[in-house]
Amino acid sequence: MMVSIHLWKYLEAIHINLRFLGGCGEVGRSAILLDDNVLLDYGMKPAEPPLYPVGGVRPDSVIVSHGHLDHCGVVPNLMDIKPDIFMTPVTKDLASLLARDTMKIARAKGQVLPFMIEDVRDFELHTYSIDYGTGFDASGYEGMLYDAGHIPGSSSIYLENKSGSLLYTGDIDTRDTNLLGPAENLPVADIAIVESTYFGTEHTVRSKLERDFIDSIKDTVEGGGWAIIPAFAIGRTQEVVMILEKYGIRPYVDGMGVDVYKLLKKHPSYLKDPGRLDKAFKDAFRVDPRERSRLMDEPCVIVTTAGMLNGGPVLYYLRHIHDDPRSKILLTGYQVEGTNGRMALERGYYEDRGRSVQISAQIELYDFSAHSGDSSLKELVTQQVDGGCQLVVCVHGDNTEGFASWISQNLEVNAVSPVNGDQIYI
Ligand SMILES: [Zn+2]
Repeated sequence: MMVSIHLWKYLEAIHINLRFLGGCGEVGRSAILLDDNVLLDYGMKPAEPPLYPVGGVRPDSVIVSHGHLDHCGVVPNLMDIKPDIFMTPVTKDLASLLARDTMKIARAKGQVLPFMIEDVRDFELHTYSIDYGTGFDASGYEGMLYDAGHIPGSSSIYLENKSGSLLYTGDIDTRDTNLLGPAENLPVADIAIVESTYFGTEHTVRSKLERDFIDSIKDTVEGGGWAIIPAFAIGRTQEVVMILEKYGIRPYVDGMGVDVYKLLKKHPSYLKDPGRLDKAFKDAFRVDPRERSRLMDEPCVIVTTAGMLNGGPVLYYLRHIHDDPRSKILLTGYQVEGTNGRMALERGYYEDRGRSVQISAQIELYDFSAHSGDSSLKELVTQQVDGGCQLVVCVHGDNTEGFASWISQNLEVNAVSPVNGDQIYI
């Protein structure tokens, strides 16, 4: 249902029209349409079947915050209208890689393809690579991308025209990690659209988390078990391999995380320490898929996709270790409801080839999240409000409503949490 929120009486000088097509009150399929013309992100929500943004769009410009499926996944689907597309060069490469992977997965599952290979090629042709801090023109808006510290190439998007200015944080992390530095300081805008993933949740201090993770891996292997580390291909696999290298552990690395590492090598300026990433991957053993069975000969550490146990080589390893109580599955990120990882954590089983498999191996979750925690999110919004921001819009999270009420109650600003399909006229 379409709902309109009128805020003109608070913001008389500014005229902006926002349509929220996805990623509201949820994590997945982010898409925001500005003045019916500029699309910020166009993602999909991987589910069975996958979910897409609501409503049709015909934008002249598309700006993509980063190369995660839920932010860039269906941009190739817009190629019948061939808009101008803007993103960092890393995001462009990641989005191409993901688009091809999406087609492969859809074919394997017998699903309808969301786009064809010609669309992916058109997407590459129509995309402008924009580095951080370089101005660009998107349908009359002056745009600028800022380092969001979330994954390599991730950006917060700032837009301005004579009516006013808008900041979209995308997914953002203001902490320093092994792979990336923290998000840049962001300019203040009249309207700030802010992610809310970890509102209400504070992260464990990273140094303690790393030590607990390493101790647990060492205990597992010393006790005669395999340490299986499922990790997302983009960002997480590289971060985990760098942590292991720091503590002198040489893992086997399997799956798409290796392809992403090779892609990132082409963009050293988007990494905190490209030399260290290289060293970590040179020290690790890369797995030839034909030789996976050899890894089952004696206990070892294996970093592999998929991060939520939904497909990928991790299933091969689980078939071997799921009934071994000495072995351990060390999850390294948030597990979405309905995924194998969530079922394994909460109910002790997962599904493989249509069958439920009971797990007697140990399961642990390490929160190596690449999103700002509760206090950093609040600090970011406070900075915006102190600088003169007049409206905060909370998106991308399970409790965007809670975040918007916290903001309204604690800061002198209007804050809203739209649902998918809502429009805001300002
Ligand atoms: Zn993301």
